[in-house]
Amino acid sequence: MPELPEVETVRRGLAPAMEGAVIARAEVNRPDLRWPFPARMAERLTGQRVERLRRRSKYILADLSGGETLLIHLGMSGRMTVSGDPLGQFVHTHPAAQKHDHVVFHMDNGARITFNDPRRFGAMDLMPTATAEDHKLLMVLGPEPLGNDFHENHLIAVFKGKNTPAKSALLDQGIVAGLGNIYVCEALFRAGVSPRRKAGQIAAVRVAALVPIIRQVLTEAIEAGGSSLKDFRQADGELGYFQHSFDVYGREGQPCRRPGCGGTVQRITQSGRSSFYCAQCQR
Ligand SMILES: [Zn+2]
Repeated sequence: MPELPEVETVRRGLAPAMEGAVIARAEVNRPDLRWPFPARMAERLTGQRVERLRRRSKYILADLSGGETLLIHLGMSGRMTVSGDPLGQFVHTHPAAQKHDHVVFHMDNGARITFNDPRRFGAMDLMPTATAEDHKLLMVLGPEPLGNDFHENHLIAVFKGKNTPAKSALLDQGIVAGLGNIYVCEALFRAGVSPRRKAGQIAAVRVAALVPIIRQVLTEAIEAGGSSLKDFRQADGELGYFQHSFDVYGREGQPCRRPGCGGTVQRITQSGRSSFYCAQCQR
């Protein structure tokens, strides 16, 4: 499941093909993904210039010249592929249409953006740009982890008195937007905080330390994604999936990487999801 760094990588990969370009034709091949598409979606997208491609949490938002914003969510299995050669960056030719190519944007610069999603947990919606933040999927979101509203005092305040484990608190999208299982595990490891520790029981100074660590973990992953985009010419045009090594995620039974620790990475289940951590150095 794509997390924030993967979605940001997709956004950065799409930007040169979409920003400033006009959707010459929008191909909508089914009525819905997770939810029904908005009424007349193809018609409303056709002829629109993409003024800006931005991201909020794990949503990609395309601000269109006509005053609407297209929201794109990759869901569990959504994949975005760019083909064509708008700026000399994408040398591959257009691939043959695949099963599950649900939405295709034919840009006026020759690029083709294909949204493929076999499991259809993804979503697309249209809303007025002026009130985009009021969209039901966006209004519930807390601050962006890489934005100015996510700071030490915010996290200390929301953790205070909280009875839920640190892991669950950081996965709460109202506390901080866009953090998922992988990067929460990694951030807690770097901070030396056990995923089982109740949020309200973590000393304020340790809560505060989580903020720069979360930013760093995400920034490093986004940089790794950026490197993957440089290899794009050789790739098949699919955006957002890149090799990245983790300290604890997926490393059950392997030695802890903290120098001198000697512990072993464990896996436990919290709220139905795997948490990876080292009980030796995460308290
Ligand atoms: Zn350890």
